[in-house]
Amino acid sequence: MPAPGSLFNDLTGRVFDRWTVRKFSGRKNRRSLWECVCRCGSIKIVSDSNLLSGKSRSCGCLKRELQRSRSVRSGRRSNSGARSPEYESWTSMIARATTKNNDRRGLDYALRGISVCERWRSFDNFLADMGKRPLGTSLERKNNNLGYCLSNCKWATASEQVKNRRSSQQVARDRAVSMKKAARKG
Ligand SMILES: [Zn+2]
Repeated sequence: MPAPGSLFNDLTGRVFDRWTVRKFSGRKNRRSLWECVCRCGSIKIVSDSNLLSGKSRSCGCLKRELQRSRSVRSGRRSNSGARSPEYESWTSMIARATTKNNDRRGLDYALRGISVCERWRSFDNFLADMGKRPLGTSLERKNNNLGYCLSNCKWATASEQVKNRRSSQQVARDRAVSMKKAARKG
């Protein structure tokens, strides 16, 4: 304990947000240090200035919880803490369309000009446009030769996607046939 008679603000037993001060723990740089127990059970040494100014309000669990609830509110995470289905779809879409050219798929996309529209570079916009992802569906482009934007995308089940892929292959075949015909005429 400090020398008798010295000016000393005893914080023992006081509560600062999630901290409860357990006992005096020495001095450092003219500050008093306190052993504190957080509401979550963690124990840490915190200086009086950090406690009194409100700079330290928990062991870090408060900040993590606030971050998590922000992520849940913005649709990036589910209540379980895992990434939300929509956020999963968005990140993989961005990854597919922006992969560096040394990646085969990235190169293929780049050559075909398949990109993500300006508006959808923001997850908030993407979520506002597409809404919640229904169970068992994934992000599907209606026309495989066009990029990611609201008019070309929908949440689709696997069987819808197979159908769509077939029909766009059919479109490509039809186009090839009509080009051959045109070439013969010319
Ligand atoms: Zn804590």
